[in-house]
Parts: sequence; C-alpha cells; structure tokens
Amino acid sequence: MTIKSDIEIAQEAKPLPITDIADACGMDGAYIEQYGRYKAKIDNRFLKETNRPDGKLVLVTAITPTPAGEGKTTTTVGLADGLRRIGRNAVVALREPSLGPVFGIKGGAAGGGYAQVVPMEDINLHFTGDFHAIGAANNLLAAMLDNHIQQGNALGIDVKRITWRRCVDMNDRQLRSIVDGLGGRMQGVPREDGFDITVASEVMAVLCLASDIPDLKARLGRIVVGYTYDDAPVTAADLKAAGAMAALLKDALKPNLVQTLEHTPALIHGGPFANIAHGCNSVTATRMALKLGDYAITEAGFGADLGAEKFLDIKCRMAGLKPDAVVVVATVRALKHHGGAARAELGREDLAALERGLPNLLQHVDNIKNVFGLPCVVAINAFPTDTAAELKLVEEKCRELGVSVALSEVWAKGGAGGTALAEEVVRLCEQPSDFRYSYALGGSIEEKLETICRRIYHADGVVLTPAAQKQARRLTELGFGELPICMAKTQYSFSDDPSLLGAPRGFTVTVRNLKVSAGAGFLVALTGDIMTMPGLPKVPAAERIDVDENGRISGLF
Ligand code: ADP
Ligand code: MG
Repeated sequence: MTIKSDIEIAQEAKPLPITDIADACGMDGAYIEQYGRYKAKIDNRFLKETNRPDGKLVLVTAITPTPAGEGKTTTTVGLADGLRRIGRNAVVALREPSLGPVFGIKGGAAGGGYAQVVPMEDINLHFTGDFHAIGAANNLLAAMLDNHIQQGNALGIDVKRITWRRCVDMNDRQLRSIVDGLGGRMQGVPREDGFDITVASEVMAVLCLASDIPDLKARLGRIVVGYTYDDAPVTAADLKAAGAMAALLKDALKPNLVQTLEHTPALIHGGPFANIAHGCNSVTATRMALKLGDYAITEAGFGADLGAEKFLDIKCRMAGLKPDAVVVVATVRALKHHGGAARAELGREDLAALERGLPNLLQHVDNIKNVFGLPCVVAINAFPTDTAAELKLVEEKCRELGVSVALSEVWAKGGAGGTALAEEVVRLCEQPSDFRYSYALGGSIEEKLETICRRIYHADGVVLTPAAQKQARRLTELGFGELPICMAKTQYSFSDDPSLLGAPRGFTVTVRNLKVSAGAGFLVALTGDIMTMPGLPKVPAAERIDVDENGRISGLF
C-alpha cells in the first residue's frame, strides 16, 4: 500500500462552500466575511451579540515530544470529526501555521493524514493575511520608535536598551542580529538591532489574548519597547503608536473559519510561540468555538508541561475559561524514545524501551489530574510502524494504573478512527471536575517559579542567576510582580536540559533571564537561550515546494 502525502489527501478533498459550513452551525450571515470560497472571517460582534450557551471545552496536549511532533493537531482535528460521527456538534480551534517552519524542517501545521483542515495550502501559506498584518503592526512600532529617537528623542530612550525588535514571517538567521540606521546624520541613529520571526512578536501574543478592539488597543499601549536613560520603561502608548497598530490589526483580530476534510467547522486564528509566549490560538477563536459547538476542541503547543500549563495558568485564567476535559496524546515512538531507544530504531518493536518510557506519559497525566484537577484521557496516536503488541502494552499499563486510554486512528481513518476517543471525551466532560491553577498570582516571582518547577516539572527547585534575581526585583518595583509566568524552556524534557528524558528527578531549573511582556500580560522566564528567529536547515523544505501552471501547489507537508 502506498501512503498518500498530506497534501495529496487534502487536494482530493471536496470542501463545501464556507457559507454552508457557517449555515450548518447556525451562524448569521451578517457576521461572515468571505475570503474566497473556502475561507471566511467571523466578526467579533458575534461574541457580543449571541446569547448561545457555551459548549464543553476540551484541550488536546501531549507527552514530551520528539522533534517530529506527536500528532496533537492531527488528534484535535480527528477528535472533532469523531465527535461528529457519534452525533455530537464539535468545532475545532487551532493556531495558524507560521511560514518559517513550512519552508524549513517541520512543514505545515494543518493536521495530517485523514485528519486535516482545508484548504491546506492556503492555511499553511498566507491564509487570510493575519500574520502579515501582525508583522506590519510590529514594524510600525519599530519605525515609530527609531523615528522618535531620530527626531530628538524627547522621551530620553537609551539606544542601548531598546528591547523591541523588528519581525518577518520567515526563517532568516541572517537577520537575527543586525546594525541599522547607517548612512549618515539624516539616515537614522546607528544601533544594534535584530529581527524575530513574526510568531515571536509580542503583538502576536497580544492579538491572541485580546478580547476585543478596546482591549487590543490597551494591551498594545502597554507594550514595553525599551528603557530611558533614567531606567523607566518606555511603552507603545508613550510613542502614541497603539491606535495605528490596532488599525492595522482590525481584521486580523477576527477568527478565520475553515473546515476539516469531513466538513467539521474549524476556527484557525493566531499562533504565538509556545516558549516565549503562551502557544495557543486566540481567546476569541476559543470563545467562538464554544458558542458554535457543543464541544470546542483546541490544542496547546509542545508537551503538557509547557503548552497545557500555559493554556491553563495563563490563557484560561485571563479569559475566564474552564476546560472540561484534557486529551494527552502519546505515541509509541515517543515513548520508546523516552525509554532510551535510538532515533533510528523508533520504527522497530521494542517493548522494553516502551515500558521504560511510560513514566513520562504518566507524569503528564498525573499533573493534569492532580495539579489542575481535570479529567484526562490518553490518546494513543497510532502510527503505521506501531505493532499490535506495543499498542496493547500501552493500553494495558494505563488501565492497570487507572488511567483512561483510547486508541486513536484518525491519521489513517479520519473521524471513523476517532470514535472511541470521542466516546471517552463525552464521558469525561460529564464528570465533575475541580479545575484550579498550578500557582496563585499573589506570591513573589521566585515563589511562582518555584511552584511551577516543583509541581509541574517535579524539580527539586529553581535557581535564579544573579542577573535574573536583579531583574525580578526591578520588575516587582515596576509593578509587574503579580503577572503570571510564561516559562521558556526546552520542549524536549520536563527539565531545562533537553537530554534528560522520561520523568527525571534530582534536578534544579535555572532561570537566566526575566522580562516582561506587559501587553500580553505575563513575565517571560528564560531557562536557556531561546531562538526567536529560526534558521533554515541544509536542505529546506522550500526546495521541494512548487506550483504548476494551474496554480496547484506541490511539496507542502
Ligand atoms: P503536533 O501538532 O503535535 O506538532 P501534528 O499533528 O502536526 O503534530 O503531526 C506532526 C506530523 O506527524 C504531521 O506531518 C502528521 O502528518 C504526522 N502524523 C501525525 N500523526 C500521525 C500518525 N498517526 N501516523 C503517521 N504520521 C502522523
Ligand atoms: Mg500542532
């Protein structure tokens, strides 16, 4: 049997006109702005004007991943299709893919196999232009900042302490560190500068957390762009930039409606980094999915130690959302990896490595159930290389320990392969839950860091470098001490060392740098160097991407 590629499957799909999808969820046409036949934006007025009750909120997260990804997006899409197959009204809420990784190693982010959202090529490329608008707003602020300095610097901005960077939605390492403003007196003030990828811009995080245009504007205004010679923060409001930035973002703030291969409505909106930002789709898209569906299925980036923690502690807390159930995606491949199997051997049966890897999964499940108080099911995302004995072992071990588990075959079979998981999710959503955050906002910055590291990562504690201690003091003086914490940590380990697999013990986490994202409304704790502008690999995916004379794209994956 030859396995079809994601793009081949997506291009064979017969999507319905997007107005049919909107009609099917009872959405008044007055709120729909069509972008071609298969995409539409939904006006945020819908959220203000609808009196529909909220559906159940289901978060899809995962074990500690391998670089290939464990199938969270695939499972999110397939679960929603599976729920529809058993007669439930489900709606998907996902992030928009960034262009950079599409042309790099990872490829797109529209699901996989028979669990995808379409039009896959559009979603993975420019889509409805949201990221370009975010880039423009980011760069407008950068231009106004440098212009302010050029025009006399009335605010007294210290050119050596500018924190705002320019951005572009491309993996372009050449722009990581640059010197600009060269060319003479009238050509700007020379300084060291740099670019981030657009998804790493604070504007992205702001857009994803904003509830409406006034909130967007207020958040943009609070963005700190640097410090004065007197060490006072300078904000976008000080530069009078927030209004124009919000004007550029007015359409980007509206969630995008598309569909899965099986015509399930999908809201795809926003895509903040999952390390220096919170890593999940916009609050507005989640709220709309809750209004449109009896079940809103959404994904958070990376493993549950990062993505789910931030979804629950940052996004749900800010937006007043309460999840009803959590799906932890696990793969036999990743479990074997955590059990010490070599990367090249992950396709071979290895029951011993598989069993050794299980503590990673169980620790994530335990955190969801016992730290956050939420019902949880493990979805085993079945790969073609998994053997029956391996799948059976994971199921048996989970059952032995009282962990709910379902085999998910959505990649191979679409919604039909997701009905067992769907049944279990329906059951869990009816269970009583006692949702709580993993830490309170009231403690000191150090206390909050300590709590996350101990409770979620199972570390012995946290160490702040002298520089980070000083930053914690200063941020507290500036009034930012009560913000939630956004941990920027490797996604490949519970610890801050990517080589510590499984469920490590006896380690401490080192926080090297603390900074405020005042517009987003969180403090970013960096445990190592986090790359905010990725590069391309030796053979970028872009080399295989093409378009024919009819506009048909190939090579995306
Ligand atoms: P994540 O959201 O966790 O990063 P994705 O759902 O995007 O993961 O999947 C990552 C890649 O793995 C995609 O290319 C997808 O097609 C592939 N994939 C996912 N699930 C399976 C599976 N069960 N079998 C084979 N390939 C899969
Ligand atoms: Mg994903």
